[in-house]
Parts: sequence; structure tokens; C-alpha cells
Amino acid sequence: MAEATERATIGGVEEARTRLAGRLRTTPLVPSPTLSALTGTPVHLKLEHWQTTGSFKLRGATNAVLSLPEAARAAGIVGVSTGNHGRGLAHAAAEAGIRCVICMSSLVPAVKVEAIRALGAEIRIHGDSQDEAEVEAKRLVAEAGMTMVSPFDDVAVISGQGTLGLEIVEQAGDVETLIVPLSGGGLIAGVALAAKARRPDLRVVGVTMARGAAMIESLEAGRPVEVAEVASLADSLGGGIGLDNAHSFRMVAALVDETARVEEAEIAEAVRHAYREERQIVEGGAAVGIAALLAGKVEARGPTVVVLNGGNIDMGVHLALLNGANALEEARA
Ligand SMILES: *Cc1c(COP(=O)(O)O)cnc(C)c1O
Repeated sequence: MAEATERATIGGVEEARTRLAGRLRTTPLVPSPTLSALTGTPVHLKLEHWQTTGSFKLRGATNAVLSLPEAARAAGIVGVSTGNHGRGLAHAAAEAGIRCVICMSSLVPAVKVEAIRALGAEIRIHGDSQDEAEVEAKRLVAEAGMTMVSPFDDVAVISGQGTLGLEIVEQAGDVETLIVPLSGGGLIAGVALAAKARRPDLRVVGVTMARGAAMIESLEAGRPVEVAEVASLADSLGGGIGLDNAHSFRMVAALVDETARVEEAEIAEAVRHAYREERQIVEGGAAVGIAALLAGKVEARGPTVVVLNGGNIDMGVHLALLNGANALEEARA
């Protein structure tokens, strides 16, 4: 929908905020006494895993759906996602009363398929890899005139995620360090754009898993590169950034001050910490900010906000982590 030449701006984030008003939850910002004591500076958690559908992805998806021109609304949207983006698109499309098709490979577990179908999307199972599912999505774009919505490399999606950044600086007026999970970079690009527009000195730190850190490796290479995808407790942080990345790579390079990578055992420990100390159930991908603080990989300098951005963790995996598992293989054993 967005022209490749169009760019995300603070004006676009403000428009997204107006568009989304009353449709999404304003999620709470709460203090973390244990992380504050550990780091010696006030640490707050942004409970975005309380967002409807269980993740921030609903912000970008809803903004993308509501930004569609009339003709495109009639044809509907298509996405390739087995996780939070798929849930967000399905919910956003159902709310707007438009068609939504989510394409997946035959390897996706039935429980994930049903979760997205239950939100009102049509499911197309195609091939046995994400790439083959994407072929089907592209066919729907070409033949049915549907609009494909990227989970991170799309101006309307990035602008929608930016509304989270506005909310944070309004709730935490004195924030100096903002720690955000990083994968394709749509979340951190939007959040950094919006938050730095209000607080230019803000330090924005992106954290991802050590296994297959596509954005960090791309930043180091100076261009988008492919990385091997390995199963991780932070499954929502998997996948590449796209060799033809048009927006998020450039924005992350310009707006993110530091990055860090956390190991699987550190993610497991952070999921346990979130549950025991903060009383929060978070998925691995949403625990990486806490992991980075606990492991001393990111310094909390000044008042710090850690974004917890997703709660869609398999309950069996969660229980195994609480019982001491330190890797996905162990948690599934
Ligand atoms: C999608 C997702 C991310 C990563 O967002 P990007 O915009 O791809 O960087 C992080 N955490 C959760 C829970 C997600 O669903």
C-alpha cells in the first residue's frame, strides 16, 4: 500500500494515533522494584503484552487496514505469518469488516492455525516452507488484487507501532533509556521515531536473540543480509529483514543507539524473572529486554523503560521454563 519512496514521519505516527484512538488498549507502565534495585536506577515495564491479541502487532496492523484506499479495502488483505502479525491482521480486518487471508506452510502446528482462524481470518495452507506460503500470498495479490501487509517493512505498520513510542514518553516523562525487542525492526523504528521526536536525547537500545540476529548482522554489514534461521525461545524474533528492505533497515540504522544480543539461557531466565518477580507471562521474544538487564548486556542509564511486547507463549513451554529448562529443545522434551 505504501509507496516505496514514502517515508515514515512523526506526522504519520500522530495520524495513526488519531486513527487508532478508542480501538486499542492504552497499556500500563509499571515500576519494577527488582530491576530498579538491581540496576540502581528506576526501571519501568511497558506492559504491551496486555494489548488485544497479545502483542503490539495490532497497532501496525490496524493502522495499515484503516489506511487502505476504498478499492483496496474491497479486495482485502493478505499476510504470511503464523504468529503475532497474523493475529493482529486477522483482528484488525475483522474489526474493519474486510477480508483477510493468512498464508502458512503445512508445517505450522494446528493450534497456531486455529488461533488465527478463530480471529476471523481465512487460512491458506500452501507448501512446506514460509517461502512457499509467500508464493501463494503473492498470487493473491496479483490475481485477486489483495494488499499484502509486511510485518515490519511498511510505512503504515511502522507508523502504527510508533504510537507505542508516543504512549511511553507520555507515561514516563523522564525516560532516558528505552529498551525494545528487535527483529525486522518495524517496532523499534516506529517507537524510536516517535519517542525521539518528543525526547531527542533519548537513548534507544534494541535487543535480539543471539541465534540469527538478522538486523544486527545487516547493520554490521551496512546492508540487508540473510542469516540462517535457528529455532529459538524468542520465536517472534526469527526471520530475515528482506534483502529488498525499503524502510526498517534504514530507520534502525539512523535511530537506534545501541544493540545487544542475548543467549537462550538468558531468555529463559528472563521469562522466569517476569513471572516470579513481575507476575507477568511473557513470550521469549518479549523477555529479551529483561534478559539484557539481568545479564548485564545493556546498562540502564537514567530512568529506563523496558518494553514487554508479547504474551503468546506456548503454555507447555512456559511451564518447562519455570521448571528450569534453559532452551527450546529442553522445554519441548
Ligand atoms: C514481531 C515481534 C517482535 C519484533 O518486531 P519487529 O518489528 O519485527 O522488530 C518482537 N516481539 C514480539 C512479541 C513480536 O511479535
